[in-house]
Amino acid sequence: MPELPEVETTLRGLVPHLSDQTISRIEIRQPRLRWPVPAQIQRLQHATIESLSRRGKYLLMYTDQGHMIWHLGMSGSMRILALDAASSKHEHIKMSFDNGISLRYIDPRRFGALLFVDTDPLLHKLIVSLGPEPLSDNFDTDYLQSRCMKRSTAIKNLIMDSHVVVGVGNIYACESLFLSRINPKTPAGRISRLRLDRLVNAIKQVLQCAIAQGGTTLQDFTRTDGQPGYFSQSLNVYGNKGACPRCAQAVKRITQGQRSTFYCSHCQH
Ligand SMILES: [Zn+2]
Repeated sequence: MPELPEVETTLRGLVPHLSDQTISRIEIRQPRLRWPVPAQIQRLQHATIESLSRRGKYLLMYTDQGHMIWHLGMSGSMRILALDAASSKHEHIKMSFDNGISLRYIDPRRFGALLFVDTDPLLHKLIVSLGPEPLSDNFDTDYLQSRCMKRSTAIKNLIMDSHVVVGVGNIYACESLFLSRINPKTPAGRISRLRLDRLVNAIKQVLQCAIAQGGTTLQDFTRTDGQPGYFSQSLNVYGNKGACPRCAQAVKRITQGQRSTFYCSHCQH
């Protein structure tokens, strides 16, 4: 599933191809994504892309005639191909540009989305209430402590709540709790400031590392046969059915909020 690092990698791959380019044609082959692709999207024919950015796992494309909000869902990916390059089986959207390239949206499971807004995308109801970006200065120890105060929620569930902080998916939550030696079940309000400080730094470190590794997949971005820009990173506990790399005790697997949690009960407490 595309997580924040994959979306960031996708954004960085798109920017050099799409900035300042004018849309010549929009073909919606399958409008039934997570939500129906709105008919107003056709208003963007002949629009020029002024900028691209990311908020959480949403990709935002700003044009001079309205804006697009994209989400890659469970299995979405994007490609930049020549206009006449063949479409693949699950390619649902093809957006052609005056400079001879096309943006293809591929999504086998169709949980992704393309929405149109003519107002600021950051004020859209899906986006306006999101917590801060984890790699921004707004996500710091003071902030996390304020959100943990008096909360009995397990810390892992709290950091995965996109209203608290965006982009900390299951893998990144497990890995950052491992790095900061915090048991994922600990009630958020019972964690000291020192340990929250370690957790904030671990979250930033894990995500930065994943984005850096994602950069290496960019070379495949314009290839028809390229794999989606997802990547496996070196993981300590997530998916580990063996020993803790720090203390060699068995890694435990439990379920929290219907998601698998991997942790070491010996060195995370
Ligand atoms: Zn351990």
